[in-house]
Amino acid sequence: MNKKMAAQELISVSDALETILGDIEVLPSETVSLEQSVGRILAQPVKAADSMPPFTNSSMDGYALRAADTQSASESNAVTLEVIEDISAGHVGRNEVTGGTASRIMTGAPLPLGADAVIPVENTNEPWRAEERPLPGSIQIMRTVSAGDYVRYPGEDISAGDEVLSKGHSLRPQEIGILASLGISVVEVVQRPRVAVLSTGDELIEISEPLTPGKIRNSNGYTQAAQIRQMGAEALNLGVAGDSRQDVRKKLGQALDDGAHLIVSSAGVSVGALDVVKAVLDEEGEVKIWRVRMRPGKPLTYAFYSGIPYLGLPGNPVSAMVTFEIFARPIILKMAGHKKIHKSKVMVTMADQITSDGRQSYIRAVVSGQQGQYLAQTTGKQGSHLLMSLVRANALVIVPENVTRVERGEQLEALMLDWPESVF
Ligand code: AMP
Ligand code: MG
Repeated sequence: MNKKMAAQELISVSDALETILGDIEVLPSETVSLEQSVGRILAQPVKAADSMPPFTNSSMDGYALRAADTQSASESNAVTLEVIEDISAGHVGRNEVTGGTASRIMTGAPLPLGADAVIPVENTNEPWRAEERPLPGSIQIMRTVSAGDYVRYPGEDISAGDEVLSKGHSLRPQEIGILASLGISVVEVVQRPRVAVLSTGDELIEISEPLTPGKIRNSNGYTQAAQIRQMGAEALNLGVAGDSRQDVRKKLGQALDDGAHLIVSSAGVSVGALDVVKAVLDEEGEVKIWRVRMRPGKPLTYAFYSGIPYLGLPGNPVSAMVTFEIFARPIILKMAGHKKIHKSKVMVTMADQITSDGRQSYIRAVVSGQQGQYLAQTTGKQGSHLLMSLVRANALVIVPENVTRVERGEQLEALMLDWPESVF
């Protein structure tokens, strides 16, 4: 790798992230119904009031019996037991199983008194494929079972009093199943971040409008709202502000009225004469970071506006999406109470040679292969206006600061855009 010293006046990505995340706090909690809680983060630990399973029960359809009675049983030498009862799931048997007797039992039904094992129906002479299944007077047992076979004991999964889920745990369908089985119908979760999205620029028209000379449709607003929603946060789309301070101010006022926890805008933060977002933030906000040593995304602006954290993303669609991934994602996920706030990274071997200018670069690439042998191929031209370079990509290969050239076969880290997200 060739290295060169980068211009020092811009802040590095890692320093910028440290500053930003140092300011961000987890949002307060709220109570939601279990049915509305998927994807949310627990604001309090959950303790089990009951054990799971709650009672000793059968794991098979079969016969509850005493294991000792089956000692000599085999296919050729069946043991015959008297059938005393039929116990279906949801019902408690009335009779004790004693030596020489058995009760027919269904999966999930409570094991009757006296029984210490279950023999699956397939290992008996009951015609279990038949449509009609009257309770037989006696049953032949064709194999031995040991005490405890096909029996599920109370507390095997959860003991009453256990902390089953800790604060910060992400609620997936399986957590919701556990909560349901414990009879918990409402949960205390971290509030969903409300993120206002503002697009700026005189050139922007609504997506329903036909293109006219000099105009483009506003794509950033939609990309960012989608990124926000994909994380489980709430997006408030403020639409487009023209390149006037007044327009921008008005939209930001709306974000405040709507109770945004974070404002994300795109464009207007560069060094052009009409980069009015930066101007408004300079005048009325508190700009904490302007310009980061990264590519794409150099003009990134981090500020507070009326006490609300504000991320001014660059206007070019690729720059906006990449800076959102690097900065907005961890802000939003931290606010939402997540423990894992960055996407996963893997080591990849480069299939192409790449060059950079010494800023930390995020190269759009396709990562393929398997653990330990990932290969990254760039998705062609990397201009920050070329959104298709991201459409074709599943990863951003990271060229570290001060590296200007990476040869084919060299190893780099890749930030996986589409990677199964871990929730822990
Ligand atoms: P700026 O940051 O205002 O200099 O904009 C940089 C580039 O991004 C220009 O080519 C803009 O036309 C483009 N751009 C800005 N906002 C958007 C948007 N919302 N959707 C698509 N392209 C945009
Ligand atoms: Mg502009």
